[in-house]
Amino acid sequence: MAKVSINLATGSLQKEDIIVGIDLGTTNSLVAFINPEKQPLVINDTGKGVLVPSVVHFGQTGDVLVGNEAKEYLTTDPQNTVFSVKRLLGRSYHDIENYKDFFSYKVIDDDSESLVKIKVGDKFYTPIELSALILKELKARAEHALKTPVNRAVITVPAYFNDSQRQATRDAGKLAGLDVLRIVNEPTAASLAYGIGLDPEETKTIAVYDLGGGTFDVSILQIQNGIFEVLSTNGDTFLGGDDFDRIIVDYWIEKNNLNKAEVIADNELAQQLRLKAEEAKKAFSYQSLFNEKIGEIWCTLDRNTFEELITPKVLQTITACKNALKDAKLTIKEIDEVVMVGGSTRTALVKKMVAEFFERPVHDNLNPDEVVALGAAIQADILAGNRKDILLLDVTPLSLGIETMGGLMDVIIPRNSKVPTKGGRQYTTSIDGQVNMKIAVYQGERDLIKENRKLAEFNLKGIPSMPAGFPKVDINFLLNADGILTIQAIELRSGVKQEVEVKPTYGITDDQVEQMLMDSITHAKDDVSARMVIEARTEGNQMVYTVENFLRKNGSYVTAEETEQTNQYLVNLKAAIETGDKDLILKNIDEINEFTRPFAERLMDQAISTAMRGKSIE
Ligand code: ADP
Ligand code: MG
Repeated sequence: MAKVSINLATGSLQKEDIIVGIDLGTTNSLVAFINPEKQPLVINDTGKGVLVPSVVHFGQTGDVLVGNEAKEYLTTDPQNTVFSVKRLLGRSYHDIENYKDFFSYKVIDDDSESLVKIKVGDKFYTPIELSALILKELKARAEHALKTPVNRAVITVPAYFNDSQRQATRDAGKLAGLDVLRIVNEPTAASLAYGIGLDPEETKTIAVYDLGGGTFDVSILQIQNGIFEVLSTNGDTFLGGDDFDRIIVDYWIEKNNLNKAEVIADNELAQQLRLKAEEAKKAFSYQSLFNEKIGEIWCTLDRNTFEELITPKVLQTITACKNALKDAKLTIKEIDEVVMVGGSTRTALVKKMVAEFFERPVHDNLNPDEVVALGAAIQADILAGNRKDILLLDVTPLSLGIETMGGLMDVIIPRNSKVPTKGGRQYTTSIDGQVNMKIAVYQGERDLIKENRKLAEFNLKGIPSMPAGFPKVDINFLLNADGILTIQAIELRSGVKQEVEVKPTYGITDDQVEQMLMDSITHAKDDVSARMVIEARTEGNQMVYTVENFLRKNGSYVTAEETEQTNQYLVNLKAAIETGDKDLILKNIDEINEFTRPFAERLMDQAISTAMRGKSIE
C-alpha cells in the first residue's frame, strides 16, 4: 500500500506541491500552510485578515458573498444570509428539529431522515454546497497569497463529528475543487500545533478545551506511537462566545432601564448592542474598563463584573470537562497537557478556571483561533512526506465503499486511512417486504460506482418481511494490516448475517491507482453534481412511493379534492424527476411535502414517516 500524490499540472507523481490545512469553523474559517522554513503560518490575504467569517450571502442579482462582506447582511438581509452552516453538514431534519428556530434562513422541513437543505429565494442549497462556497473562498485566498494553485487540503472537523458529517465535509472540499487528503479531528490538529504528538516515542494524555463562537467541546486524547485516539468528548453545541455577548447586552439593558422586548423589536439597536458587547468582551483582553455610548445608552462595564456575569457559563464548561474525564475513566492527575482552542479562550477567566480545574498551566501561547488551522497544515506537511522524521503509517490508497440507490458510491473507508482500520454504516430497505439486499463493494474515488472498481458482490438473504425503512442493516468494513478487507452485513432485528473477504490491492498496479486518482480529480465537480441529481431523484422517487402508498392505504382520510390535488403534485414531481433538474425536483418535493403534511398529522400514523426513514440500498 502506498500513498500517491499527483501534480495536477503535469499529471505526474510528485511531493513538492503545496497542501494547505483548513479549519472550517462554525463561526470563522481559515487556511494555513507550511512555509519553506518549515514553519506553519496562517494565510492573511492582503487587507482581509486571517479569519473568514463562515457566512454566505446571496444577492438579488445572483451574486454570492463570503466572509466579512457577507456578515454585514446578517442583520439587514437575514433570509438570504446563511451562517453556522457547519451545524447542518451531514445532518437530517430529525437531527436538528429541536433547534430549527436558531436559523434565520429557511431550512427545509421534509420530516424525514434525508439530509437537510436550505432554501434561499427560489433556489435550494445543500449544506455541502454552502460549505463548498466557504472553502472556495479559502482556496482563492491561499492561491492569491501564495501565488500558486492550491489543489490539495487537509480539513478539520470536531472530534464528535459522525461518519456522515465527515463525508459531507469531504464532499464540500471536492465541490470546492480540493482533493481532500484527510479529515483530521480539530483537537488532534490543535495538539500538533503545540508540537504534542510529533515524537513517535512519546505517550501522552491530553485535554483539548475548545470554546468558539457558538459551540463548546472538550476532548480527551491519548497519543501513542504517533497515533491519536479520542478517549472521550463532551460539550454543548449551544454554548460559546455569543452567550457572553448576550449576557453583556442584557446587563446594559438592565443598567439603562430599557425594556428588553422593545430593544429586541428594534433590530438595528439590538444588533448595535450585540456588536458593542463583543467589542467590550474583546477589550478585556488588554484593558479592565469599557465605557462607551450608543446614542443615549451607556455601555459601561468593568472586567470584574464581566467575569461575575459569565461565571455560570464557564462553570458549565468545567462540568463538561469533569464528565469527559469520567467517560475516559481518568483522573485530573493523569492529564499531561491541556490545550486551549477557540477565540473565546482569550477570555482571562476562562483560562484561569480551566487551569485551576486541571491543576496545571494551559497551552495558550498560540492564537487560539488559529491553532486548529496551523495543526492542519502540519498534518498536511506530514502527508506530503516532507517530514522525514515522522513515520508515515501505511494507508489505503483508494476509498472502499458500497453501492447505494441510483448507482452511487457510499464510501465506508476513505482513501488515505491508516491501516488497520474499520468503518461501518447502517442501511435499510426501500421497498415494503424486501427480503434480500444486494451488497456490492467498490474501490475508487468516483461518485458513480460504474466509474469505480468492483471488488465483490453478495446478497444478504433472509431478511424478515418488514415495511420499507424498518430493517436495520449494519455494514462493517474491516481492513487489516495485510490489506485484507472483510465485509460483514448483519440485519440487527433478525440477526441475519453474511461475511466476505477480498484483497483490494490484488490485480491493480500503482499506475492504475494513480490513474484512478487523476480521473477522480478531473471529474470531481461533475461527479458531485451528478451525485446531487441522483440523490434528488432518489428522494423524489421515495416521496412518490410514500405518497402513493399513503393514498392507497389511507385514502379515506383525505377528501376527493385533496386526492386530486395530490395526484397533480405527483404528476409534477414525476415530470421533474424525468428532467434531472435538481432544483426543480427539490422544489416539487418541497411542495408535495407541504401539501400532504396535514394528512399524516391528521392520521397520526407512523407509517409515512417510517417509510421514509434512512438511506436505502436497491
Ligand atoms: P469557531 O471555532 O466557532 O468558528 P472561533 O474559534 O473563531 O469560532 O471563536 C469565535 C469567538 O471568539 C467569537 O465569539 C468571538 O467573539 C470570540 N473572541 C475573539 N476574540 C476574543 C477575545 N479577545 N476575547 C474574548 N472572546 C474573543
Ligand atoms: Mg473552531
